[in-house]
Amino acid sequence: MTHESLYARACAVIPGGVDSPVRAFNAVGGTPVFAVSGKGSRLTLADGREVLDCCCSWGAMILGHADPGVTRAVARAAERGTTFGIATPAEAELAERIVARVPFVDKVRLVNSGTEAVMTAIRLARGVTGRDLIVKCEGCYHGHSDGLLVSAGSGAMTAGDGSQPASAGIPAAVAAGTLVVPYNDAEAAEAALAAHPGRVAAVIVEPVAGNMGCVPPRPGYLRALERAAHAHGALLICDEVINAWRFRLGLHSEAAGITPDIVTMGKVIGGGFPLAAVGARAALMDALAPTGRVYQAGTLSGNPVAVAAAIETLDRLAADPPYAAMEAKVARIERSVNAAAARHGVPLRIQCHATIFTPFATDALPVRDLTGAKACDATLYARFFHGMLDRGVYLEPSQFEVAFVSAAHTEADIDLFVQAAEDTLAAL
Ligand SMILES: *Cc1c(COP(=O)(O)O)cnc(C)c1O
Repeated sequence: MTHESLYARACAVIPGGVDSPVRAFNAVGGTPVFAVSGKGSRLTLADGREVLDCCCSWGAMILGHADPGVTRAVARAAERGTTFGIATPAEAELAERIVARVPFVDKVRLVNSGTEAVMTAIRLARGVTGRDLIVKCEGCYHGHSDGLLVSAGSGAMTAGDGSQPASAGIPAAVAAGTLVVPYNDAEAAEAALAAHPGRVAAVIVEPVAGNMGCVPPRPGYLRALERAAHAHGALLICDEVINAWRFRLGLHSEAAGITPDIVTMGKVIGGGFPLAAVGARAALMDALAPTGRVYQAGTLSGNPVAVAAAIETLDRLAADPPYAAMEAKVARIERSVNAAAARHGVPLRIQCHATIFTPFATDALPVRDLTGAKACDATLYARFFHGMLDRGVYLEPSQFEVAFVSAAHTEADIDLFVQAAEDTLAAL
């Protein structure tokens, strides 16, 4: 099957042929690829080609595709019934595993997506503070709910000036509840808080930003943001939907020495299923229904199959943490590709944090914020992306995203990546 024929068929019945716009190739051109199966670090595409996968379902597949342990756990759970709409014992077993690794979280609520987790976090922050406004950073993505699609990164990236919602259909009144400040600029956040005394419910941030490309926090930034939020009586929400269990067993917030009031987790912790979580201290979490007055619900929340995959994934990560080996692989990609790009005179450099990375089409790293990310050459990135895909490496189809390695990526996979990059850069 060709991707073109599958795409034409999908486009007739699905807008743009994709069920999430980040899968489209709008930013790089060409026809989006279709996957039919995956095993470990590799994907088999619909045209029969095998490629090295550096998207890893946007980071969710940290153990690699079709991991035998996860597959067995999923099959066993499915045989017992796939959803009951009644509490199951395994939900607490997963919650206990999360709580045990996060010192500032006593309780979690399981939900079906990162979007839902953040919606719940925001409503909870507003519910307990009695305030309405939210401060968010330009280029951070917190899911596709109305108030957070203002200057959002990832697929919602636009060329606008940042004061407009990144989507039609968002009431101006809702967008006005979101104050936008640059990432990596705690003074700007402090100024936004000071300009609206007593009105900001929460400051929300991705601790390591992953939706304008990989943009790590400057030293001290997260602590300063925490201080600013608390000085003004606002809560700090750390959106760790990408970060959680991606760099270590637990959250980046802890590693950064901060204590967020509410955290959201997704991707890795879902084990490849639609599962995410919102967590906080008991007093805050008990403000959620049914104990409290902040309402939140879900027919499939805590789904037994998803919970089984999540438990197996977290247990495997704890039994044999793959992080140091993954970091070394990303460091090798960074070193080798940046040296090759310099040798070939191509303004493209890898910026990374631990186990995630982005090839930014610039020779002026670091990229610190959305302005820096947007200054990169989108056309050059598109050529790099297609050069890599032609040579068997699937990268994220936009430089406003991050690439991932999994525990299943081998040294030979990194050799393939480095050689493909060398050849692509030579051709550029
Ligand atoms: C992916 C992502 C979300 C949204 O999660 P979904 O499961 O796609 O709804 C929210 N926040 C961050 C930081 C993300 O990367």
